[in-house]
Amino acid sequence: MNDQIIYLDYAAATPIDPQVLQLMQPYFSDDFFNPSASYTQAIKIKRAVDEARAKVAYWLGAKPNEIIFTAGATEANNLAIHGIMSAYPKGNIVVSNIEHESILALAGQYDCRVAKVLPDGRLDLNDLRHQIDRRTVLVSVMQANNEIGVIQPIHDIAQIVKRERAQRSAEWPIYLHTDASQAANYLDLHVARLGADLMSLNGGKIYGPKQSGVLFIKTGINLKPLVWGGGQERNLRSGTESVSNIIGLAYALDTAQAMRQEESQRLQLLSQHFMNRLAEVLPDATINGSLKYRLPNNVHVTLPGQDNERLLIQLNRLGILAAAGSACSASNEEPSHVLKAIGQADEAARSSIRFSLGRGTTEKDLDKVVDSLSKLIKNFA
Ligand code: PLP
Repeated sequence: MNDQIIYLDYAAATPIDPQVLQLMQPYFSDDFFNPSASYTQAIKIKRAVDEARAKVAYWLGAKPNEIIFTAGATEANNLAIHGIMSAYPKGNIVVSNIEHESILALAGQYDCRVAKVLPDGRLDLNDLRHQIDRRTVLVSVMQANNEIGVIQPIHDIAQIVKRERAQRSAEWPIYLHTDASQAANYLDLHVARLGADLMSLNGGKIYGPKQSGVLFIKTGINLKPLVWGGGQERNLRSGTESVSNIIGLAYALDTAQAMRQEESQRLQLLSQHFMNRLAEVLPDATINGSLKYRLPNNVHVTLPGQDNERLLIQLNRLGILAAAGSACSASNEEPSHVLKAIGQADEAARSSIRFSLGRGTTEKDLDKVVDSLSKLIKNFA
């Protein structure tokens, strides 16, 4: 990345890990073969895909055949929801009100109930219990939120789903899906420990390639495909595999999970330092979302009286890159649904900025951001 730039939008996109890129490269040229072909060159490619699948499965504590490669997390989320809801057309789905648009937009096309979060951004478990009924076949709650970085109590949600399941016949199953797109750099993804039946992952947020993703589907779950064709990926995601992306995602996940504890600690200290310095120079500033259950790289701040779009443009001129909301809703005039869900008024939402830290972030960068913000705000006053 350009050294002149202070990039603080890692929740929107991460630069590819140079080692991951190196591992992907042969699959664009020398090893371009279709893994479904029968000659020895292609069998070698199929083996590489199998190894990548086993690597992903390892970090999830899953079986390799429970891993389906997709083109990104939007597709993985769509496959989870469409897959279950079209297999059980009389069922309903319960989602949280702070899910990513790739969940909310599709869930809204089915019989969908929405469970609320509390003002700290954590799911209201009582409301979740209230929303689930005998026809609920899918509950989808993200492991960590992309805007405010709040970590959800997936294990507790799984217990609620499990209790409901215990009262059902096999004809009416109930499953828990979690979108782990933002969690994979920092949190444990072991599906049995979490109690997740389906999990989405996103290569583009873990220093891997964009348009690479995974849907973990626990053995025994009956799910209809979203993309039909040649029957690749156990008939659940047809289309010739993007081998380079699959390899890239698997090695990116391997690296991210191997370094997650050390990197989480480093970022935790940095974000704490950033928040302390912000509080010193801008005492009106408030941090949105739980401070306790929070991704270590997320600092989502409201700067009362400030227009976030104006500040972002001015920061951009100084080489500082941050975001108003999620990348997807950044161009949207409407204040973020996540900030609304935690009870923020529209005006406060329009004064909020997300800084998301990552592997390239240093204390010096953050100090510069605080100084710049402070100057911009004072000049404007
Ligand atoms: N889910 C979450 C939580 C995300 O943050 C994103 C990306 O912003 C997605 C899903 C969608 O990922 P993609 O656009 O790479 O398909």
